[in-house]
Amino acid sequence: MTITPLMPVYPRCGVRPVRGEGVYLYGEDGQQYLDFASGIAVNALGHGHPHLVKAIADQAATLMHMSNLYGSPQGEHLAQRLVDATFADTVFFTNSGAEAVECAIKTARRYHCAEGRPERNTLITFNNAFHGRTLGTISATNQPKMRDGFEPLLPGFRYAPFNDLDAALALIDETTAGFLVEPIQGEGGLMAGTDAFLQGLRKVCDEQGLLLVLDEVQCGYGRTGKFFAHELYGITPDIMAVAKGIGAGFPLGACLATERAAKGMVAGTHGSTYGGNPLAMAAGEAVLDVLMGDGFLDHVTAMGERLRASLEQMIPNHDHLFQEVRGRGLMLGLKLKSDSRRFVAHCRDHHGLLTVAAGDNVVRILPPLVIDESHVAEFTQKLSEAARVYVPVADD
Ligand code: PMP
Repeated sequence: MTITPLMPVYPRCGVRPVRGEGVYLYGEDGQQYLDFASGIAVNALGHGHPHLVKAIADQAATLMHMSNLYGSPQGEHLAQRLVDATFADTVFFTNSGAEAVECAIKTARRYHCAEGRPERNTLITFNNAFHGRTLGTISATNQPKMRDGFEPLLPGFRYAPFNDLDAALALIDETTAGFLVEPIQGEGGLMAGTDAFLQGLRKVCDEQGLLLVLDEVQCGYGRTGKFFAHELYGITPDIMAVAKGIGAGFPLGACLATERAAKGMVAGTHGSTYGGNPLAMAAGEAVLDVLMGDGFLDHVTAMGERLRASLEQMIPNHDHLFQEVRGRGLMLGLKLKSDSRRFVAHCRDHHGLLTVAAGDNVVRILPPLVIDESHVAEFTQKLSEAARVYVPVADD
């Protein structure tokens, strides 16, 4: 392979969107795509949402950046709104999901130091999880394809099978800080944690003074129809990483924590030049305005149910290809009987439909949260047509 100006770490694909409007993206050739990928669960408000665009433009003209050295009234305001709406007492803003997870890992380690138990520095994480691409987060992510050649990795992680409570509990020893887990695995193929598993982790953390750290970078921020996915399970975390939907396209993430869990994060322990920058905060405020608006999350639930029902109805007509529907709200997965990457490319190149492949032969369906019935109908009709003409290859 020859080198390209942009480091060639992503596979090339035919679509090069240059403009977005609502639930649609447009390519250089004017080709229209129905965007049920949302930049991998990012564009929660679709493209060009007027409230978000205006908030960013107004803030850009007022003050784009100063420094956390001078404090951050904008950060304090958004943090207060998040604290009011969640389990958390305190927030650290980041620029991405991986940085939010990094902050969560550091917060957990620092907590046990502050408790006088520095040997409790190991988090138990889960197979098929994805936590990001920094050295710390690939160390937490037990997947050779993301780790090979990047060693030495960060020590302090042990891995258990997802949804296997007994196996997770068996790994606990005197070095355990807690658990780091996605309530619903996204990249891993839309696998939802079971009630027994997530509630069991919460219980053992309470009993043994461990921390439950949730990675809600993909499943959080309204995607499941709840503000956060852990609400579906009737549990709260001690620490939580958030990104993607929180900025709805603006690079923003956050680490939320209870007062107790954050007790080690005192002045001078952590920082980020851009974390909590006024422009990012303006985007975060605008997204939250919409998400917290009357009936918005109920709309997500209703659209999710409608989309799921349409997909389930489709399975018998395409049972050579479709197997089952997974997920919650507008975080849905269609499990195929053959390679999902090839089918996702077929939908994109021949039917103007954007979705995302995930592990375990799953097509991830992650539309903007602002879709309406007409978009569900258009998606279903195009997906059905795509499946009708699709020919899986023999060795799929
Ligand atoms: N955690 C989860 C659950 C994710 O899905 C992702 C991104 N797909 C990340 C962390 C990393 O986020 P980012 O790419 O913004 O660093």
